[in-house]
Parts: sequence; structure tokens; C-alpha cells
Amino acid sequence: SYDLAGKRVWVAGHRGMVGSALMRRLADEDCELLTVGREEVDLRRQAETEDWLAEARPELVFLAAARVGGILANRDHPASFLYDNLMIEANVMEAARRCGTEKLVLLGSSCIYPKYAPQPIREEALLTGPLEPTNEAYAIAKIAGIKLAESYRAQHGCRFISAQPSNLYGPGDNFDPASSHVLAALLRRAHEAKTREEPEMIVWGTGAPLREFLHVDDLADALVFLACHYEESVPINVGTGEEITIRGLAELIAEVVGYGGALRFDTSKPDGTPRKVVDASRLAGLGWRASTPLAEGIRGTYAWFAARQGTAR
Ligand code: GDP
Repeated sequence: SYDLAGKRVWVAGHRGMVGSALMRRLADEDCELLTVGREEVDLRRQAETEDWLAEARPELVFLAAARVGGILANRDHPASFLYDNLMIEANVMEAARRCGTEKLVLLGSSCIYPKYAPQPIREEALLTGPLEPTNEAYAIAKIAGIKLAESYRAQHGCRFISAQPSNLYGPGDNFDPASSHVLAALLRRAHEAKTREEPEMIVWGTGAPLREFLHVDDLADALVFLACHYEESVPINVGTGEEITIRGLAELIAEVVGYGGALRFDTSKPDGTPRKVVDASRLAGLGWRASTPLAEGIRGTYAWFAARQGTAR
């Protein structure tokens, strides 16, 4: 196991949803937190990244910096999703090796798995079939990152690991309608439909796809747990084991927000993969489980969103 006490810990991407959850979680630990903003260091630039790591010399790195987005953002900007993520992963891992980083945790995604992988998806499904086309560019970049971590371990003995969470949500989520993921998108839409007293609200697709939603504070806790207790090159899933249809999610969100109108399904928008739930039994076997019930997590996320709406107006 790996002991965080007294360690210099860099959270790459500390302003993002996952990075800020890691900052909250690590505040309880006896370690020194290092951060750098994107205006100071662009992690897509190798020289900038290497210079910063050579100076900061982190002992533990959480690599949570990435370009992320929902189904339409991925479809419309594939080059950005592939290029930015490849560069960030390659630059940070190589620089971490050079400056003697002891351990690195790469944040992956469950979208790395084949579209028709047997569900719940086991880690062994990686690279056994074609990907979901709507997020292929992002998935390819993340797969490259996972393989890079494995390869640095194999060739250089670096203690690099990767974790694959299911669909994330929580405080710090992106609520921009053009690029948000479903949970944040529907929270915002339900809120606006309620405020404007609209008779119905739009939900993309058929409502039939199944998804699993993991609260970002649960993920942050899992990532710290993995940093301390996981030491294998194979990726490891982080999930709740519970799934819900998009229709069910929309209904739950309407209830939390207090919106009483109808749901209208816009089937001109893509459904994406029909079902996506990870098998988190490997992580459960190590002794970790998610603890935030979905309804409770949605309530907290709505409170976070509503508070920010208040200050924005
Ligand atoms: P995915 O899990 O990678 O497919 O990413 P998303 O979170 O973007 O989408 C999940 C599912 O929710 C898909 O079936 C979408 O069509 C559906 N969905 C319904 N309404 C929305 C919405 O307003 N925004 C997004 N992003 N997805 C939506």
C-alpha cells in the first residue's frame, strides 16, 4: 500500500468537477497539495508541462485534467477531444517519469469499453470490440492513456494506475446545454421549465438507454483509495452497480426540481450506447463501495446549481 502522509500531491485539473472533488477529499489528508492553472501551464505543451513538473516534483499525481463533454460536443469536436487528451496524458506521464513521481492515478472513463460489451462491463472487455461512435475520439484518447500507464509500468517500473468511472455528476458539473452530460442538462432544463412555467420539457433520444450515475465525491474517495491500495496495471472500474433509464432519470430530476410538466422525447437526438453499467466487483473486492444514493446526490447537485444561478442573476 501507498501512504499519503507528508507527500507532495499534484491534482492535475483541480478546477474541474473531478479535480475539485479530489481537492475537497484530500483536504482531510496530511499531504501537501500542488496545483497549477491552465493559464500558467498548458498541459498540451510538452515543454511547459515538463518544466512545471521538474520544478514541482510531485510524489503522487492525480491526472484529472482532460477535455470532456457530452454526446453532441464529442460528435462535433472529435479532433479536439482526441488531440487535447492524448497530449495531456502523454506529456504528464512522461514528465512524471522524468521527475521521479512515485505514483500516478489516471482518470479514465467507462466509454473506453466496446459498445456491445456484455453488461455489466468487466475490465477484461477493453479492446474486444468496436466503440460507440458518438464518443470514439475521446475513448481512443483514454484507451491510449490507459495503455501508456500500463506501458510505463512495464518498461520503466512506474507505479501508474488507471480508474474507469461510470457517468459522473455532482457539484462542479458542466451545465452548458451544448456540452453538458445528461444529468446536468436535465437538471438545468427542468429548472428552467419550472421557472418559465412551461407545459413540457425536452429529453433527448428515446428515454430507453440505461445509464449508471456516480457521484463525484464517491469517485474522489475511490481515487484516493486506489492511490493507496491498488497496484496493478490493469484498469479498474468505479461504479455504483445501479442503473436507471434516461426516462427514469428525467422523472427523478423533475421530482427533485419540483417540475410538474410533461416529458417530450426528441428522437432526432442520438441515444448513444443502449446500456452502460460497469461491473465494480474488482473494486468491491478490495473493500470500497459508493455511498451516495442517486436521489440524494441529485438534490445536492441541484442545490449547488440553484445557488450559482442566484449569484449569476
Ligand atoms: P453518454 O452516456 O456518453 O451517451 O453521454 P450523455 O450523458 O451526453 O448522454 C446520455 C444519454 O442521455 C443519451 O441517450 C442522450 O441522448 C440522453 N439525453 C437526454 N437528454 C439529454 C440532454 O439534454 N443532454 C445530453 N447530453 N444527453 C441527453
